[in-house]
Amino acid sequence: MASIDINQVSKIYDKGGAKAVDNIDIKINDGEFIVLVGPSGCGKSTLLRMVAGLEGISAGTISIGDRVVNDIEPADRDIAMVFQNYALYPHMTVYDNLAYGLKNRGTPKGEIEVRVAEAAKMLEIEKYLDRKPRALSGGQRQRVAMGRAIVRKPAAFLFDEPLSNLDAKLRVSMRGEIRKLQRRLKTTAIYVTHDQLEAMTLADRLVVLNGGVIEQIGTPLEVYHKP
Ligand code: ADP
Ligand code: ADP
Repeated sequence: MASIDINQVSKIYDKGGAKAVDNIDIKINDGEFIVLVGPSGCGKSTLLRMVAGLEGISAGTISIGDRVVNDIEPADRDIAMVFQNYALYPHMTVYDNLAYGLKNRGTPKGEIEVRVAEAAKMLEIEKYLDRKPRALSGGQRQRVAMGRAIVRKPAAFLFDEPLSNLDAKLRVSMRGEIRKLQRRLKTTAIYVTHDQLEAMTLADRLVVLNGGVIEQIGTPLEVYHKP
């Protein structure tokens, strides 16, 4: 668990070009669920990717816990990202997909088994551990993708439109589950979506972006019930 401090952060992709993210300040509390919402091109995924370390920061600082992470590699940032396209390894079983990152880090086998079993139970995918991803439904695949993030026991989850490949009904049930899981694990989360209803249902606080700047920030009630 950790707070995240986004401090006067900007992003310019092309020299002399427009700011994709323009001097943004957000202080995210330990255990808080923040949703970045706004129209396509407003800078949501750029901001998320800068927190993840997948994109360089043009100005400002980002801290995770008490560490400034500007120059820290993604693997050393103590975060786990959940993508919309699942990013599962097709040739590996669900178990190996869940275990892979831990194995790479040299986590002892017994510890891996415990963590995979815990995550599989939480996500109700225990029955599918021997299957390959192609033998799973979209919802089950998304659970495995979430499992890969959970087993890392990161300080923060970063969600990049994780439900946008699912059908409408599944989206609704999965977003309820994501919220329940996050409450249970109390892991700080930043969640990107363009779906306002999803944003409202999930967020402790919403950040509405437009043109790279913060248009509104507050609880769902504060943002959507403005007089
Ligand atoms: P969102 O996630 O809200 O759709 P993005 O963060 O993807 O928005 O994009 C913000 C702005 O930055 C847009 O104007 C987009 O065209 C631009 N942009 C995003 N990625 C790149 C890139 N790799 N190179 C140049 N411009 C980019
Ligand atoms: P794995 O590729 O399974 O994660 P590692 O833990 O060794 O194996 O990580 C390799 C690289 O992939 C690192 O940069 C790591 O941060 C990144 N990575 C893998 N899975 C995630 C994830 N869920 N979220 C964020 N980064 C990840």
